Amino acid sequence: MSHTLKLGLVGIGKIARDQHLPAIAADAGFELVACASRHAEVEGVHNYSTIEEMLAHEPHLDAVSLCAPPQVRFAQARAALEAGKHVMLEKPPGASLHEIEVLRQLARKARRTLFASWHSRHAPAVEPARAWLASREIQAVVVNWKEDVRKWHPGQKWIWQPGGLGVFDPGINALSIVTRILPREIVLNAATLHFPSNTQTPIAASLVFADEHGAPVRAEFDWRYGATEQWQIAVTTNVSRLRIDAGGKTLEIDGKPVDVGPEREYPSLYAHWRQLIERGEEDVDVRPLRHVADAFLLGTRREVEPFVD
Ligand code: NAP
Repeated sequence: MSHTLKLGLVGIGKIARDQHLPAIAADAGFELVACASRHAEVEGVHNYSTIEEMLAHEPHLDAVSLCAPPQVRFAQARAALEAGKHVMLEKPPGASLHEIEVLRQLARKARRTLFASWHSRHAPAVEPARAWLASREIQAVVVNWKEDVRKWHPGQKWIWQPGGLGVFDPGINALSIVTRILPREIVLNAATLHFPSNTQTPIAASLVFADEHGAPVRAEFDWRYGATEQWQIAVTTNVSRLRIDAGGKTLEIDGKPVDVGPEREYPSLYAHWRQLIERGEEDVDVRPLRHVADAFLLGTRREVEPFVD
């Protein structure tokens, strides 16, 4: 590591406090210098209300990590790249596919690293699963990603507004894992999206994909689930059955647990970003968001009862 990267963090809400702040504090390669948030402050650093103010007053920042909801990410990322900063985007990388392409071009022009992060890909079961599946013939994949929205997103209005993705906000985490571990691409054939009558985004979704060889890949996302979450991906191959559970924390092959080590998604995310910056590389894989966009393009819409938080 040549020098410590001076970092700005934007959008101090749930994920910034739960994961980003501890991961940054534990990473000697980053020094948190400033934060930008309209209603929140972080102790011990310079605080600003907007990213524009932060960029104007902190010219020595090397990098900016963006944790606000996707609907405002493009404008923030553009401002940071135009100010010559490396940028990390929380997932999903944006509210539309094309805005990410524009950011990619801006980053290349500015010779800065753009990292569209997918934290679930850094869960400990993911790389062992990918290695296991690499040489095997996939026969079927079943994804169940179900949780109680009131438990995980209390009071978050943006998830129900256009661009907020609804149940795809967690569901895209499953898609980020699926697109990482399967040896072949998947294509969406059909989808059913359940929209509460008073929201702009779905509360549940059923997706039917096939991989390039025709193997079925089905995904069920549901935000109306009970107190215990179900975050599972089951893959049947020609010789074995693999199961990722707990969102990627655990792995079983043919019913036997595999030791994948401790969960350290966000420390791993920041370490990966640092390496990308050192190497002058980008990491921008929009496939999970493309599958979600395809679900909105192809999906049959069903209206369900209104959502009351
Ligand atoms: P959040 O707490 O609702 O929002 C984060 C912060 O962004 C808010 O506290 C708010 O801070 C700022 N913000 C909200 N709306 C804004 C707007 N219109 N303009 C500018 N700033 C705004 O959400 P979150 O749960 O942290 O999620 C943020 C992102 O992280 C999402 O993309 C989500 O998918 C991702 N993520 C969340 C989790 C999770 O468990 N919650 C896990 C992984 C990834 P100020 O009001 O102070 O500006």
